[in-house]
Amino acid sequence: MGRVVRSRDRPGGRGLLLGARGSDPRAVPVGVPAGAGTDPHRGAGSSSRGGASSLRPVTDTAGTAGPPAYDWSAPPEWATPSRLIRVEEHQTSNEWVPKLWQSPDARLLIVDATRGVVPVDERGERLRFVAPVEEYDSARHYLLGTVDAVPYFVMLGDPDESVPGPSGTVRQLTVSLDDLDREIAITAVALINWHRNESFCGRCGTTSEVRKAGFMRVCPNCGNEYFPRTDPAVIVAILDDEDRLLLGSQADWGNRVSVFAGFVEAGESAEQAVHREIAEEVGLSLRDIRYYGSQPWPFPRSLMLGFVARAAGTEINIDNAEISYADWFTRDRLARDMADGTIARPSSNSIAFRLITAWRQGRL
Ligand SMILES: [Zn+2]
Repeated sequence: MGRVVRSRDRPGGRGLLLGARGSDPRAVPVGVPAGAGTDPHRGAGSSSRGGASSLRPVTDTAGTAGPPAYDWSAPPEWATPSRLIRVEEHQTSNEWVPKLWQSPDARLLIVDATRGVVPVDERGERLRFVAPVEEYDSARHYLLGTVDAVPYFVMLGDPDESVPGPSGTVRQLTVSLDDLDREIAITAVALINWHRNESFCGRCGTTSEVRKAGFMRVCPNCGNEYFPRTDPAVIVAILDDEDRLLLGSQADWGNRVSVFAGFVEAGESAEQAVHREIAEEVGLSLRDIRYYGSQPWPFPRSLMLGFVARAAGTEINIDNAEISYADWFTRDRLARDMADGTIARPSSNSIAFRLITAWRQGRL
């Protein structure tokens, strides 16, 4: 068992564990099975660290008594071609995109970007679209792409007003949406967030104009061009020589634990970010770093790059600025601690969950 030492003081930083930004407490999906899309582990109210006895049991499904039945089936791997065809060759056409907008098949998703809320069916499995009715406006109506020749658009709006019925946040719905609608929702919220947050030219401050059906902005004053941005972040499953997995927690996570993650800084490679983050957060040196897979996480605009690595030792030196708890887990201990509620796992829509599941199933 690695010895836990808390000694290193470090001011803030950009490190995070996936999910550290948490779910949006302002919006709870309507019609989604209780607990299915939420992080039930957040706000567990525990300010305690490192003591199993002080961690509070939780259930995976609100209101269900007894030990939670954790679903360890493999979540989406994001490794197959997207069904959403992004039609880049047509995005600049002044006729083609408006024609798609007027197509009887066209589907429009209304997104409330402030809360990240979209209309969804009662089970949280399918998005609810509307047919475009107003005149096409390239500044507000963005073409996400086509699926089997059906065009999908997105625009900012108030789903509660224009599409009455159930709705939920995209972050939460990524647990329950089917594969295609998950991709559409994630692309939509990434694009909408970009337009909301970066509508001014970074060089001269002029309001930029939308081009390429929403996938580009151009400054009318200086001509600078802008494209939707993604921030790379690394997330790493750290194993020791006995194949134990290092899991940690942050102070406001309650009893939820996860693998470790952080943003790639300017001028460093993804592998260097892995080395740096882990040295900063738990004081471990790593070897045999391998790429695992990636996943978009547009809350607001991250791309999670998953890695697996071996720790050179087992002594953990916790950075209390971000990490409040870390320890090595065998598969048996993880199963036992999850079953009795001592710890809780990351949400099943996360690459953290994929990494933990792969390790648990002997696939790392
Ligand atoms: Zn400019």
